[in-house]
Order: sequence, then structure tokens, then C-alpha cells
Amino acid sequence: MAHFDAYSRLINYLRIAVTDRCNLRCIYCMPPEGVPWRPHEAILRYEEIVTVVRAAAELGISRVRLTGGEPLVRLGIVDLVRLLSRIPGIEDLAMTTNGILLSRYAQALAEAGLQRVNVSLDTLRADRFQRITCWGQIADVLAGIEAAHRAGLEPVKINTVVIRGMNDDEVVDLARQTIEAEWNVRFIEWMPVGNAQGVVDGGWQERVVTAKEMRERIEAALGALEPAKLGIGGGPARYYRLAGGKGTIGFITPLSEHFCYHCNRLRLTADGQLRPCLLSDREIDLRTPLRQGADVAHIKTLILQGIESKPLRHHLSECELPENRTMSQIGG
Ligand code: SAM
Ligand code: SF4
Repeated sequence: MAHFDAYSRLINYLRIAVTDRCNLRCIYCMPPEGVPWRPHEAILRYEEIVTVVRAAAELGISRVRLTGGEPLVRLGIVDLVRLLSRIPGIEDLAMTTNGILLSRYAQALAEAGLQRVNVSLDTLRADRFQRITCWGQIADVLAGIEAAHRAGLEPVKINTVVIRGMNDDEVVDLARQTIEAEWNVRFIEWMPVGNAQGVVDGGWQERVVTAKEMRERIEAALGALEPAKLGIGGGPARYYRLAGGKGTIGFITPLSEHFCYHCNRLRLTADGQLRPCLLSDREIDLRTPLRQGADVAHIKTLILQGIESKPLRHHLSECELPENRTMSQIGG
């Protein structure tokens, strides 16, 4: 049965960080030396994740996204996808990945029941990609995107975090990709969370590029953006299309037009904490009860507590930042 939170929002979506580890170090997300990994035994085992998802599905959560850290660095990730795809009530199973290992796994993931992927890509320039990610090769990501299309993980969406002075000069180039190719590029306003010091010391507001500014730049260079729809949605992006474009352009505006009043999601961290809001440090421990033998019914009561305690909105613009985790530990 579907459940609503205290502000009448339908909660039907769970994002699961399957690991806090990553094979890149995007400057805005993690410091170059990384963050201390949680020990292996602190990370939820696959059967524990399955129990949580069974409980969530019984509460009307029908959409699950696997994220991280980098989900594809966790051993046996294809097996987890297979287990989750068989849970009754899960209608949409997706993944957010940096794409580095995607060409290796796309086909197997699709066969195991993954329906679609979002691939993070902040630049089209090989040298800049390496600088932003510390050592990544853009060719691997582009091969991953191709492989995802071949495997039918559609629609493939490209997530681009835009930061002034890092990649904002590429907004028009990235938007142009959607004319000739079926690229669905989603521009995301940077949030000063995680390794914000990697980007700026103080004065972070100047580094935020609002969707309004991006949109104006795109329209000045490439013409009007027309409203569009992009397959299964329900997320916070708003989509547009350039005249004659094969792909779409989306904007995600956590700062300039926060979408909290339509928030439909919960998050599960890799170490088993249920997080009702990305940008609030409040968490409900599921790992301890799971390890004490909690069954689906018990986990359902804890998830219900998470639903009921979702805050109305975040307070980033008032400079209230979450402090206990980086984005790689929460899953974005
Ligand atoms: N490693 C995977 C990836 O990069 O796609 C999944 C985890 S990553 C934390 C999920 C998403 O969060 C990525 O698209 C990433 O660009 C985005 N992200 C990370 N830090 C962010 C920040 N401070 N503001 C906005 N988005 C951020
Ligand atoms: Fe890793 Fe994703 Fe964070 Fe980049 S954004 S460091 S790929 S978790």
C-alpha cells in the first residue's frame, strides 16, 4: 500500500548506496586522498539489502536506484540486480554510475533486470575530465554510454554537475550533443556538500550556476527550448528539447528552485542507515536490527518512521549544510 509523509507527499522511491568506495575522485565530491572507507563488515550484505527492499516494496515503494560511491566497483553487483529485479512490487530498477566500468557490465546488468542507467559526465574534454576526476579516462565513459544503449538500458541519461570556473563554459557544447544524438543531458546545480573545499574556500555561492543562467546561455546559442517528456520520470528534473533535437535537456535545481515539496524518496547508505533527506543528517539505523535478525515486518516499521520524519525542505540557501557524510557516502 502506498504511503504519504506528514506533508502529503507520496513516497515511492528508494536510492541505495551499495558501496562508499569509488574508482574516481571528482573534486567536488571527494578529496583526492579519498575518504576513510567504512570497514567491510559495516557495509550491508546483499541479503540485508534485499530484506530492506522487500519491506520497502510492501510499503508501496516501487522504484529503486542503485548508486554509491561507484556501484560498479562492488563485487557481485549483477547478482544484487538480479535479486532486486525479482522482488514483487519493484517496477523500476535503475543505476547511477560514473560509467568507467559500464562497457564491461552493461549487457549483464540488462540481462539481470536493470532497466536503465544515469551516467555522470561533467565535460566533453579528455584533459578536463582527467582533472575533474583526478585520473579518469573519458573514453571509458563514452564506451560505457554506447554499451548502455546497445544493451537497451534506456533512456540513458547523462548527469552533468555544473560549477562556475570548472565546466560552465561547456554548457552549450553539451546541450549541442542532444541535437544529433539521442543524448539526454541533465544539468545539475552544484550543491556545496561533500568535498566543497575541493572547489572553493568560502564564498561558494559564486560558484553555483543556476539553471536559469544555463538555460539563457543555451537559448542564446542554440535557439528556444521546448518542453519535453522523457520516459519514466517522477524525479526532480524538468525536460526540454531543442528544435529538431533527438535528445533532451533537463535541469535539476536543488538550490535555485528547490523541489522538496515534491520529494518522493528515501535513501539507504552503504552502512545501512535510512536517510529521510539527502541534506539532513538525521538517520535511522537499519543495520543493527537487521543483524539482530529483524524480519521484513520489523524493517517496515522503521521505514515508516523514516517516511513520517521526512523534513519539509532543506535549508542549503540559509547555509545549513549536512555535515556527517560526503555525497559519495550518501549516494547523491
Ligand atoms: N559514482 C556514481 C556517479 O558518479 O554517478 C554515483 C554516485 S554520485 C555521488 C551520484 C551523483 O551525485 C553524480 O551524478 C554526481 O555528479 C553527483 N554529485 C556529487 N556531488 C555533488 C554535489 N556536490 N552537488 C551536486 N551533485 C553532486
Ligand atoms: Fe565517485 Fe561519483 Fe563521487 Fe565522482 S561523483 S567521486 S564518481 S562517487
